[in-house]
Amino acid sequence: MIPSVIPIVIPYGCQDIRDEDVAAVEAVLRSKWLTQGPAVPRFEEAVAAHCGASHAVAANNATSVLHLACMALDLKPGDSLWTTPNTFVASANCGRYCGASVDFVDIDRDSLNLDPIALAAKLEQADKAGKLPKVVVAVDFAGQSCDMTAICALADRYGFRIIEDASHAIGGRYQGQPIGNGRYADVTVFSFHPVKIITTGEGGMALSNNAELAVHMARLRSHGIRQNAAIQAAEGPWYYEQIELGFNYRMTDIQAALGLSQLARLDDYVAARRRLADRYDALLADLPLTTPWRDPVTASAWHLYVVQLHDASCRRAVFERLRAAGIGVNVHYIPVHLQPDYRRLGFVPGDFPVAENYYTRAITLPLYPGLSDAEQDQVVAALREALA
Ligand SMILES: *Cc1c(COP(=O)(O)O)cnc(C)c1O
Repeated sequence: MIPSVIPIVIPYGCQDIRDEDVAAVEAVLRSKWLTQGPAVPRFEEAVAAHCGASHAVAANNATSVLHLACMALDLKPGDSLWTTPNTFVASANCGRYCGASVDFVDIDRDSLNLDPIALAAKLEQADKAGKLPKVVVAVDFAGQSCDMTAICALADRYGFRIIEDASHAIGGRYQGQPIGNGRYADVTVFSFHPVKIITTGEGGMALSNNAELAVHMARLRSHGIRQNAAIQAAEGPWYYEQIELGFNYRMTDIQAALGLSQLARLDDYVAARRRLADRYDALLADLPLTTPWRDPVTASAWHLYVVQLHDASCRRAVFERLRAAGIGVNVHYIPVHLQPDYRRLGFVPGDFPVAENYYTRAITLPLYPGLSDAEQDQVVAALREALA
């Protein structure tokens, strides 16, 4: 009998959960606080310290964090947000949550990140038309930092704010410094979804060196309510006040405990990913495909290892052969502007040709710290056979 669904033996990404993670979660479960307790601020402080940022705000997922960041940057109807088409939909949707319009800037064919040259050209046009963006979301695709110096120089010139969507990139470096240190972004966003570098089940965090933005994001995370000793001294110990419309985007202490435990292994995870990426490079060198670009000024966190087939016409067949062999390959990303919900807004094929061309060739191979060399060899053998 042929099974209708082929079991995936080697997934494209997988969390690493150890006994100490389970113990950390159990300790919270047996404590007084499942949420709004001490584990969340502890996790926030630890991530901020690890990355060299002044402030951190944890939330229930990175999509919520992107929304909080856009709100704190005062993105609203009539404004526009620009991002890359080569990302998960959340990087763009956050602008629409605020009623802003969303547009895209094509990618650089090497880094696969938002192309600063295309950005500069589009800004020049937008400036003439009086339609400059308020926010640019720069996405560190696959864990590889964007060209933040160039984007920052453009932000200084044209006055937009920068959200760095580093959902793929915690543990990565740019110019020798940790991604998230806030040198080139108003807000940096991390995701702790299980396929990302470290996990809290669901979870996300905003890092910023701007205290005002951080306080605002923290307040919006919890209904827009403010509560402090001075307010309570004036009105009574029960008192809190909602001063704007916020959400319940809180992270639980259960999640934060898992995140804190995982954070202790962040550097090991990134090192393991890098070793496997180097090994893929060597093992795939003779195949008709392009392996990921290497940039001397960044150290990728290696969330994803994406190969681009020289012959786009065989991508689907190669993908299906790999899946049939139990290899959980994936494709990152379908260009966001080609999603039906974005086509409804007027985007059409051909709008961002570099991202579209890249998409036709891309296959994401399995990469996670627990991937053994033998499993990696199996992936490479299956790919070799699929391409034969
Ligand atoms: C995963 C991801 C998100 C969303 O993260 P969640 O924590 O799942 O909400 C946003 N942007 C990018 C680039 C991502 O990969």
